[in-house]
Amino acid sequence: MLGSGTCVPSLKRSSPALIIKAGGKVLLFDSGSGTIRRMLEAGITYHDIDYIFYTHIHPDHVSDLVPFIFTSKYAEQPRIKQLDIIGGKGFKKFYKKLSKVYGKWLEPELYKINIKEISNKRIDFGNFKVTTKPLAHIKESVGYRIETEARSERSESNGKSIVISGDTDYCKNLVKLGKDADILVLECSLPDEKRVKGHITPSLCGRIAAESNCKKLVLTHFYPSCDNVDIAGICRKYYKGEIVIAEDLMRIEA
Ligand SMILES: [Zn+2]
Ligand SMILES: [Zn+2]
Repeated sequence: MLGSGTCVPSLKRSSPALIIKAGGKVLLFDSGSGTIRRMLEAGITYHDIDYIFYTHIHPDHVSDLVPFIFTSKYAEQPRIKQLDIIGGKGFKKFYKKLSKVYGKWLEPELYKINIKEISNKRIDFGNFKVTTKPLAHIKESVGYRIETEARSERSESNGKSIVISGDTDYCKNLVKLGKDADILVLECSLPDEKRVKGHITPSLCGRIAAESNCKKLVLTHFYPSCDNVDIAGICRKYYKGEIVIAEDLMRIEA
């Protein structure tokens, strides 16, 4: 977990970003401001990332994309490995506009950037499979389910599944996406009494986790007022499984 916060500047919680290591690949989900520095704190550089997935294009989720690509070109050791960037519908248009603004500063020389839009699909990436579903936040919003397969029949390590909500309101697609997941990562923006449309609260997180029957629930994307509330306690009224309140640089095993 690189950033467990929101758009609100906080020394404790950086803007949204998390890394999943799956099938030998390194996947970055969202890159709010401060992500490439948090990556360093986690021992990961811009060379290591194979894929970047975006849940949506709100600035608190994408603002370190430009610095990521800029440093990949102009650092003393430029990136040479292909970079796949994946987003929901509309992401290509967004990227085109960014390219127009920054021109050659965003054009890689020694590697290739592949942009892919996916929404409501299941795609086999070889080392892992990705299912996406549109979620209830803005029209480009998608949630992701990443699945790995068991390495061999005799192996103890079964396939794992992890689901990332990004920002979202309560919706059936999220429950479907999270069905029986090993880890369900949900945004938990604000306490129940401060609920705003397009985001979920501890009670709603608990309901979604219970309905999807996930094995472990990880809550993140906390506005500062969440830090004065017993988030897990409220959530537990609905969901009986393990609840993790995310913190920056926390590592979670599936
Ligand atoms: Zn957000
Ligand atoms: Zn948002």
